[in-house]
Amino acid sequence: MAAINTHYGELEDSYLFYNIAQKINAYLAEHPDRHLYRMGIGDVSLPLAPAVIAALHEAVDDQAEAGTFHGYMPECGDPALRQTIAGYYALRGVRLSADEIFVSSGASDELGDLLDMFSRSGSSLVMEPAYPAYVDANVMAGRKLIRLPSGDHNGFVPMPCEEAAADIIYICSPGNPTGAVFTRDQLQAWVDFANAHGSVIFFDAAYEAFIEDSDIPHSIFEMDGAGTCAIEICSLSKTAGFTGTRLGYTVIPKTLTRDGMNLNEMWVRNRTTKTNGVSYIIQKGAAAVFTEEGQRQIKENIAVYKKNAAVLTEALDALGIWYTGGKNAPYIWMKCPDGMGSWEFFDLLLEKVQVVGTPGAGFGACGEGYFRFSTFGDPEDTKEAAARLTALLR
Ligand code: PLP
Repeated sequence: MAAINTHYGELEDSYLFYNIAQKINAYLAEHPDRHLYRMGIGDVSLPLAPAVIAALHEAVDDQAEAGTFHGYMPECGDPALRQTIAGYYALRGVRLSADEIFVSSGASDELGDLLDMFSRSGSSLVMEPAYPAYVDANVMAGRKLIRLPSGDHNGFVPMPCEEAAADIIYICSPGNPTGAVFTRDQLQAWVDFANAHGSVIFFDAAYEAFIEDSDIPHSIFEMDGAGTCAIEICSLSKTAGFTGTRLGYTVIPKTLTRDGMNLNEMWVRNRTTKTNGVSYIIQKGAAAVFTEEGQRQIKENIAVYKKNAAVLTEALDALGIWYTGGKNAPYIWMKCPDGMGSWEFFDLLLEKVQVVGTPGAGFGACGEGYFRFSTFGDPEDTKEAAARLTALLR
């Protein structure tokens, strides 16, 4: 009989989005004519930028002619795209060589796959409330999980402490679900801590493009010493609407070593064994994101989401409700009013004002009593949701 990975049996069932869907379906069955204001989705709603669409069409045409046809692409990414992404980092003063950048099919794939390079008997630190994939990927791998809770006392930005000395430390900034960001000093403290303990930071920069405060770091590699303790995972999903198109990139510096092994070289070996690269067409589309025109267009889309965020945060400010996020992140993480629980507040919003968000309890125990709004929705719906929230909670 085939012995299987029994750690899958240790996964907790994720009821979050299932429960939300069940509640919505039940509500709509009873009130079929009601419109719902959906502020729960983590997916983008605007289409790809015209520059990306043009590049994708061109790439499809390339595949139609023998002279321009591309077969297998290099497993670690098209060298030209890797160079382009290195150029994007250079704009912020981060110097990387093209072969420190690995083109991927997205951040989720990488967040799990990177664990391949680490001993299964190691530990991982997850700061909660957390993006659920961090926890589940580590449970599947059979690794020891250390949960570091956070709360409004530290603005949902936990700082190093002795129990945080794990082999791998996940940091997400700007954060999902909290929208909280680490300042330069806070991130430097984690880099110093990781170097002192031999930990490796997995820095999830999926939302870096939403940062607007000039003193908030976009990349862990803006910190001194990150080259010896960090891997950065990034994605065009939210930056450029690639959730259904799929492209990300991972940075592994050549200076990152553990146990006499070089992690950049290990990852080359891993990718060349376990993948055959991202498709030519998608890499061509991704390259267009980094052109002047592409950057202007994706920023126009991000501005739409930011306007949604401003509409919601203005409403919360007027109501005197505590929250994080919204400014440098597409998520707003609010404290439920009157000591209400996350699900209780979910039910109240659905029943009374037909606004749908995400209960914070679904992102870890310390998320109880909080609620997440996404700003990726329709602008008119967002305005109406803010007005309804104000009328209900005033
Ligand atoms: N990391 C975080 C924090 C996310 O919120 C998400 C998606 O919602 C991802 C990673 C996954 O990104 P991708 O679409 O590139 O797999």
